[in-house]
Amino acid sequence: MRFLVSGAAGFIGSHLCDRLIAEGHEVIGVDNLITGSTQNLGHLLGNERFQFIRHDVTETFEAPAPLDGVLHLASLASPKDYLANPLETLEVGSTGTRNMLELARSHNARFLLTSTSECYGDPLEHPQKETYWGNVNPIGLRSCYDESKRYAEALTMAYHRVHGVRTNIARIFNTYGPRMQLNDGRVVPAFLDQALRGVPITVFGDGSQTRSFCYISDLIEGLYRLMMSDEREPVNLGNPREMTMLEFAEHIRQLTKTTSPIVFHPLPADDPKRRQPDITKAKTILGWEPKVTLEEGLAETIKYFQSIYAAAGASSR
Ligand code: UDP
Repeated sequence: MRFLVSGAAGFIGSHLCDRLIAEGHEVIGVDNLITGSTQNLGHLLGNERFQFIRHDVTETFEAPAPLDGVLHLASLASPKDYLANPLETLEVGSTGTRNMLELARSHNARFLLTSTSECYGDPLEHPQKETYWGNVNPIGLRSCYDESKRYAEALTMAYHRVHGVRTNIARIFNTYGPRMQLNDGRVVPAFLDQALRGVPITVFGDGSQTRSFCYISDLIEGLYRLMMSDEREPVNLGNPREMTMLEFAEHIRQLTKTTSPIVFHPLPADDPKRRQPDITKAKTILGWEPKVTLEEGLAETIKYFQSIYAAAGASSR
């Protein structure tokens, strides 16, 4: 099959391209590189089944036929990035999603939207099931991300209902692994980078807020199964192992044997207090559940970050 992946140069997008190529498909990777990096795709650039096009999906896009699937991952996914670029975030979630849906419709191709646990906002239900409608501040600082993803979900369902497009919606919970940017502000790269460099680990608030971390290979397996499925409504993909950010900081300290102290910084506005996926639906419909433990996943991620430090050190010498 021939797929277009938007956000192909990003963390999740590049791993999804790898999986599609490994399955024997052809891939057109599209990215405007606002947060992605072609380094994530370097190993695919010589592959005759892979093509990279630098393009902003908020501008219309025509792909030569045939096209069997449009997988729309383009987004500014890190709070640091979307808080710095709220208008671009709203635009890619709305116009970008519309353009990608139009592309799928015009080619009679399937469509996958990578949505987010952020659709649940600061959840009043715990753990979060797909049936929960969420508790989102519609005008808060995070609303550019949350509301554009909620709109993207609504648009996707409308294209399915009105035009019969074969759509899937994944609600992705916190995911980590190699190819995350060291400085993207999210908690896994932030804590690992701080611990590996021996500088203070910055816990926001009192660290009692919780998250549940899914390793990238588990997420990609879930996405692949979902896009091949007939499920049209959203499906949570994430790892249910939940912990507080203070526990996570302690865990990183032990794992890296760092001398970094923990310091406390102010909690950002509207930071969700608890987040844990209920993955019963994914288990039932897709036969999917995460397999990689946090310890295994963090060990792989640490190896990756160390290779980045080594490369940076070599180039500055
Ligand atoms: N966080 C933290 N220190 C950091 C970065 C993040 O304590 O240096 C916290 C943040 O306040 C949030 C959690 O870690 O409660 C996850 O943040 P992240 O930015 O990774 O993503 P989110 O789940 O909020 O979208």
